[in-house]
Amino acid sequence: MSASRKLASFRLPPLPTIGELIKLYNLRAEKQLSQNFLLDLKLTDKIVRQAGNLKNAHVCEVGPGPGGLTRSILNAGVADLVVVEKDSRFIPGLKLLSDAAPGKLRIVHGDILTYRMDRGFKMKHPPNLHIIGNLPFNVSTPLIIKWLEDMSNRTGPFTFGRTRLTLTFQKEVAERLSASTSSRQRSRLSVMAQYLCQVHNCFTIPGRAFVPKPEVDVGVVHFTPLAQPQIQQPFKLVEKVVRNVFQFRRKYCYRGIEMLFPDACRIELTQEMMQRADVDPSLRPTELTIPHFKALVDAYAHLCASEPSLLSYEHREELQLRHHQKKTKRPADTLMDTTPGP
Ligand code: SAM
Repeated sequence: MSASRKLASFRLPPLPTIGELIKLYNLRAEKQLSQNFLLDLKLTDKIVRQAGNLKNAHVCEVGPGPGGLTRSILNAGVADLVVVEKDSRFIPGLKLLSDAAPGKLRIVHGDILTYRMDRGFKMKHPPNLHIIGNLPFNVSTPLIIKWLEDMSNRTGPFTFGRTRLTLTFQKEVAERLSASTSSRQRSRLSVMAQYLCQVHNCFTIPGRAFVPKPEVDVGVVHFTPLAQPQIQQPFKLVEKVVRNVFQFRRKYCYRGIEMLFPDACRIELTQEMMQRADVDPSLRPTELTIPHFKALVDAYAHLCASEPSLLSYEHREELQLRHHQKKTKRPADTLMDTTPGP
């Protein structure tokens, strides 16, 4: 049998079940760390299938915990798997798995938010790297924002190319990530994810499938980075325009765009930006498509090129400053202000 056939047909030998492992190593879920485990291997197999064909792929799993998803990834015939786990209590159980899959599983005891994945794999081109994980919600949302920025800069996991991601989120966040134009869930997150990737909300896992049961249901989302981002501008610039547009979600989009400019030139520059972008100012933020956002970000970048001080202008900071000045006004000033004139 050829080496690749052997790799493809790999199956883990019989092992204690995940439930038995949890008892064996006394792995009680830490509520503070939002740990919710998946013990049903049919379900973990289903999550792994969303990643596509993993035969001979290189995979990084984030937050393997007791290792249910890890087993399904190994059984998918991967070339190698790196798991990054923060909680040291899970390391002995993961070592047991690593012994059962010689040369395939590497365990990193660390934090995925700081782990340098670009140094974690030594592979030939073209790469076939996937990231898979069932993480706590308080980690998965900041992490996807960080990875979207990495995607735009081709850094971190994206130094290798179009690394695909299969991750779990709180159901509402999964819906926002994949929401299309004019849908109720359309938000900043939809635009930021969709200008860089094809986003697929694969399926929902009911909360009762986890041990212990979380308060909410969970969505499995698959991301495939686009060959070229739909908006070819720096991530921070795109983020600034999108954030300002969605500031007034229910109002006409020009209201949020106005906030990109200081008082003195607000009306004039908003008009110029809308005209240059050729976007109807009376559309609502949720009605804007990715090409609309592209036109708006390009128009804003053009204005910033002629007036670089605009780049650092933040309406929120101006408001905070005004608020602070009001609060720190000396009583004598206040008295003088309120003294009636002649
Ligand atoms: N993947 C396992 C499963 O599906 O049963 C465990 C899921 S549990 C929701 C999340 C796991 O991520 C826990 O094992 C937790 O210790 C780990 N984790 C949490 N924050 C992490 C971080 N910043 N870096 C790496 N692992 C983390």
